Amino acid sequence: NMGRKFLVGGNWKCNGTTEEVKKIVTTLNEAEVPPEDVVEVVVSPPFVFLTLVKSLLRSDFHIAAQNCWVRKGGAFTGEVRLNIVNQTYIAVEFWSKLREFHIVMALLVMTLILAEMLVNLGIPYVILGHSERRLLLRESNDFVGDKVAYALSQGLKVIACVDRISDWTNVVVAYEPVWAIGTGKVATPTQAQEVHSVLRKWLHANVSAEVAASTRIIYGGSVNGANCRELAAQPDVDGFLVGGASLKGCHKTTKVFQA
Ligand code: PEP
Repeated sequence: NMGRKFLVGGNWKCNGTTEEVKKIVTTLNEAEVPPEDVVEVVVSPPFVFLTLVKSLLRSDFHIAAQNCWVRKGGAFTGEVRLNIVNQTYIAVEFWSKLREFHIVMALLVMTLILAEMLVNLGIPYVILGHSERRLLLRESNDFVGDKVAYALSQGLKVIACVDRISDWTNVVVAYEPVWAIGTGKVATPTQAQEVHSVLRKWLHANVSAEVAASTRIIYGGSVNGANCRELAAQPDVDGFLVGGASLKGCHKTTKVFQA
């Protein structure tokens, strides 16, 4: 695969207690995985556990935040991005659904995590544009593109699925078919390879041959210990973003890392 280092990311989403987090980290710390120069392991805990995980996790594993803000901090009490909130308010007016109201509340109380703060905490990666944020919080391509640009400008590495990036050096592209996320329906190795190869061709045609050859394209969607090996064997599959299985204990997680 042209020297692209395999990347396995565990996205814990919004799960875990201090005890559970400690347990997973212990499991990870004891896991036998290939050396750092062969496989890069990235775990992505919820914000509130970033520092805890950072303090406990073995140093050859890396940490990713699950989101960050689109620009600088400052006087942004409660972090509101106006056009998203407006859109949601309109939804509330039209449908007055409790569910929509919850979305507004979620936006208003969402913690303002800055790219600068992640850098300051020593968190090297951030996942941006996950489909759950696009679906539930209405993050648009443009908004995600702005976030990626800002995070990169602050020196973060980004695991992203986006449309506008000028410097690809620190970008990992995650292909995650929505029908496969958290559903137990994994893409077949052929399906994944097909899309990854199209994405790489897109990079070749729209960015450059070098970027196409060096950018890692990882697959996400119901990856587990049983299906990862075959997927990993595809020439354009350079790693995984793992949700459910990354929380389910050592045995499966370790298998994913080893494949
Ligand atoms: C994800 O949310 O990034 C994901 C791939 O989830 P799962 O592995 O649970 O399908």
